[in-house]
Amino acid sequence: MQIVKDQAGLSAAIAGWHKEKPAIGFVPTMGALHEGHMALVGRARQENTRVVASLFVNPAQFGPKEDLSRYPRTPREDEKQLCAAGVDLLYMPSVEDMYPDGVNATRHVESIGDHLEGVFRPGHFDGVATVVARLLQRVKPTRAYFGEKDWQQLQVVKRLARDMNLPVEIIGVPTMREVDGLALSSRNRYLSVEERQKAALVPAVLKTCAEKIRRDPSQIEAALIEGCKKLAAAGFRLDYLECAEAESCAPVRHLNKPARVFVAAHLGGTRLIDNTEISNQ
Ligand code: AMP
Repeated sequence: MQIVKDQAGLSAAIAGWHKEKPAIGFVPTMGALHEGHMALVGRARQENTRVVASLFVNPAQFGPKEDLSRYPRTPREDEKQLCAAGVDLLYMPSVEDMYPDGVNATRHVESIGDHLEGVFRPGHFDGVATVVARLLQRVKPTRAYFGEKDWQQLQVVKRLARDMNLPVEIIGVPTMREVDGLALSSRNRYLSVEERQKAALVPAVLKTCAEKIRRDPSQIEAALIEGCKKLAAAGFRLDYLECAEAESCAPVRHLNKPARVFVAAHLGGTRLIDNTEISNQ
C-alpha cells in the first residue's frame, strides 16, 4: 500500500494507474478504524480494480464545542488494517493540504442537511460537503462508499455528487453492529464499561419504535414519545428521536414515502447516533 500525504503525491499515484483504466473505489474516513469502516473497504475491494482510502479528521465539520481535539487518532493501526485489507493507496492529508486557504466550509447542500443532525450541529454538513467535494475531485473515483450508520450524511453526499455532476456512483453500505446491536463507531471508545452496557438501549429503542410505526403508522408521535421516555429514564440526554423521510431526511408524521427512525443521544460525554428503516424489518 502506497501512502501519500499531499495532493501532488495523490495525483501522481493515480496518474501512474492510467494505462490500466482502473475502476477506482474510494473510502473516505476519519480514522480510528473499526469493522464498520472495513466493511466499506471490503465492498470497494470487491467492486473495483483499485481502492483508495483517506484518513483525515476534518476540522470543518466539528462545532466549536465538539470533540475535535480529543477525537481518537490511531494512524499506525489504521495503516496496518487498510494494508491488510488490500487498499492500494492511502491519502493522509494535512489540514494545510486539504485547506490551503484556511479551514472554511464553503459548500452547503440545501435542505437535506438542515434537518436532524443539521439542527443540533449547525454547519456540520457544510463541513462534510466541503471535504467530500474536495476528496471526490482529487481522487476522481468510479465509486465512493459511505456507511448507512450516517444515513443523513449519505443522502447529503448523494445530492452533492448529483449537484456537482460528478461522474461517481455513491454507494451506501449497511451498518455494522456489535452483538447487542450497538452500531460500531469510533466514538464508542469514549464509553465507560457501564455506559457501554447501557448504550445497547439506543438500537433497541430504534427497533421498537420502527416496529410500532410499521404496525400502526397513525401512531408515529406516540411511538416516538415512548422511545424518548425510555431513553431519558436510562439517563440519556436526547437531541432527537425522529421519524423522517429516507431521502430528504425531513421529519414526517405520515408514511407517504420510505421513512426511517433516527436518533441522537448523549450518554455521559459521548454522543451516539443511529437509524433504522421502518419497512422490511
Ligand atoms: P468516520 O470515520 O466516522 O467519518 O466514518 C467513515 C465512514 O465509515 C462513513 O461513511 C461512515 O458512515 C462509515 N461507518 C462508520 N461506522 C460505521 C458502521 N458501524 N457501519 C458501517 N459504516 C460505518
